[in-house]
Amino acid sequence: MRQTTPRFTETELAAINEKLEADSTEDILQWVDETFGNTAAQMSSFGLEDQALFHIYWGVNKNARLMTLDTLRLPTETYSLFDQTKLRYKVDVEFFYPNMDSVAEMVKEKGNNFFYMGRANREFCCGVRKVEPLGRALSTLGAWVTGLRRDQGMDRGSINIVEWDAAHNNYKVNPLANWSFDQVQSFVKENEIPYNELHDKGYPSLGCAPCTRAIEPGEDIRAGRWWWEGDPDAKECGIHVVQALES
Ligand code: SF4
Repeated sequence: MRQTTPRFTETELAAINEKLEADSTEDILQWVDETFGNTAAQMSSFGLEDQALFHIYWGVNKNARLMTLDTLRLPTETYSLFDQTKLRYKVDVEFFYPNMDSVAEMVKEKGNNFFYMGRANREFCCGVRKVEPLGRALSTLGAWVTGLRRDQGMDRGSINIVEWDAAHNNYKVNPLANWSFDQVQSFVKENEIPYNELHDKGYPSLGCAPCTRAIEPGEDIRAGRWWWEGDPDAKECGIHVVQALES
């Protein structure tokens, strides 16, 4: 059963992080396994980082749990990657969907593509399709494992390997915190890990189909997300802002 209060003091957590900073990614995931058992799961966006991470997690534990959110607006290529990943690792991916009553009400009141009309509308849609299902998924876990990296910028620059996630009453573990994007790319290639074919078509960062475009050479890696908003500080969907799933 999951524990809903911190099991480590701040001092203990600092010592754990100091040790894990020097450990390999495999060792970090081994620690997750030993500490949280099957109350831990990777919450994956199926981006490049998450695919690399699950490959390692699966190597540590063939029964590692893999969760994702299906917003019902994802690109076809992402749905294909779900199937490829299930085949490769024989994993029973745990899909979380938006509350269908909320989706029906939202679409009835606002329309199908209302998120193009202002940031508040976009955040409302992300709230229904991502943040609420994420909260529902995480409420079942003692720890969630993410593919966040420090050099992705924004709020991610200061992440620890293990953090108490007060918003979800569990621990968030970021085993790839010290990885670079080049490392991730090389690892995926060397290990022939399935990845989203859109990454080869100018989409370094992926999300819902209507809210993601390809980027031009030299553009910021997340410039293709909610591009119409034009605000570089607004490139998070609420998930990583409230304590951090998006590739
Ligand atoms: S990314 Fe776009 S379609 Fe997906 S939940 Fe957010 S606003 Fe809605």
